Amino acid sequence: MPMTTDVLTAQELKKAAPVFGQLSFNDHEQIVFCNDKDTGLKAIIGIHNTVLGPALGGTRMWNYATEWDALNDVLRLSRGMTFKSAITGLNLGGGKAVIIGDAKTQKTPELMKRFGEFVHSLSGKYITAEDVGMETADMDLVKTVTPYVTGISESLGGAGNPSPITAYGVFMGMKAAVKEVFGSDSLEGRSVLVQGIGHVGEVLVDYITKEGGKVFIADINEARLEEVSKKYGATIFAGDDVYSAQVDVYAPCALGATINNDTIEKIQAKVIAGAANNQLADENVHGKRLQERGILYAPDFLINAGGIINVYAELENYGKDEIIRKAENIYDTTLEIFAKAAAENVTTHQAALKIALQRIADRKAQ
Ligand code: NAD
Repeated sequence: MPMTTDVLTAQELKKAAPVFGQLSFNDHEQIVFCNDKDTGLKAIIGIHNTVLGPALGGTRMWNYATEWDALNDVLRLSRGMTFKSAITGLNLGGGKAVIIGDAKTQKTPELMKRFGEFVHSLSGKYITAEDVGMETADMDLVKTVTPYVTGISESLGGAGNPSPITAYGVFMGMKAAVKEVFGSDSLEGRSVLVQGIGHVGEVLVDYITKEGGKVFIADINEARLEEVSKKYGATIFAGDDVYSAQVDVYAPCALGATINNDTIEKIQAKVIAGAANNQLADENVHGKRLQERGILYAPDFLINAGGIINVYAELENYGKDEIIRKAENIYDTTLEIFAKAAAENVTTHQAALKIALQRIADRKAQ
């Protein structure tokens, strides 16, 4: 094997340096591998940065093809959380957890409680919540073994399911982006393709429909498509390729990295604004290319912060009015980011990242 990393391929690098050499490793503070034979739990907790506060981020349960994919996901997601909380002005660091497995068939109360014990062992450095594959009821189970959990039921003193607030924040960011491109922030008459109509996507469909937007929906779950189409009158996208859809707005609300080398040249929408984390497969390459193609990208970690705003309320004891106010504020912040990007001739993603990094640097210097 060659001695310098300069000449190692990505695969060789992974073998030579399986953690710090991961392509998505980006100065993470701590990565915790959790294994429990009895419950079948295999999880990874990624703590990216705790300068602003404890690392808060949801737990995703997903049937990853390989453990490398799971590690890569938790590294990317936890880093995103650092910037999300920083730009939203919350005193939280960035963390995230992934549980490897099928949430529909492998999630048991015992497994969730065991996971909670691992979270507890970190003494509050990491605080969990729900993400893809998780429900409020799962967080309620985690709560039975550790206080370091948010997103619990309102009946237990929590702020409840964060997804509707996430959808509201995304809607605010989308309106800001539509205003920037089309001159008015109304979605009336605008066509929007929502990819992924789960917890967040469905509520987003509701908001857009109520404002008179024309919604197309895409999902791998056929039953969901029928259900959401019937409920809101949304049109099930019938084309071969969602990326080539002739729409005003593309809203990625499924998993990340859908803006990548295979899709980016096909995108016809003038605006991208959605809930998914890490929409850009490579934030430098694909952020720049969207800018060159004249497609306005509303940075994901900025506009999907509604969920973290909602769960933060449980730690800071603020109520629904303040949650809504903070989520509404995403509209103004998004417009500010567009202005900063234009003034500094950087991508919208870079402009948002700069503000987040500055806040962390300022706190570190105190
Ligand atoms: P969810 O699991 O409820 O919904 C995801 C939906 O996407 C499902 O209906 C699933 O069938 C669909 N899907 C999966 N792969 C797909 C594909 N290849 N093409 C089309 N559809 C596909 O998840 P959610 O809670 O709605 O979250 C959606 C996204 O938003 C995730 O990336 C999540 O990390 C992010 N996010 C969620 C929140 C929140 O509060 N729930 C907060 C911030 C960010």
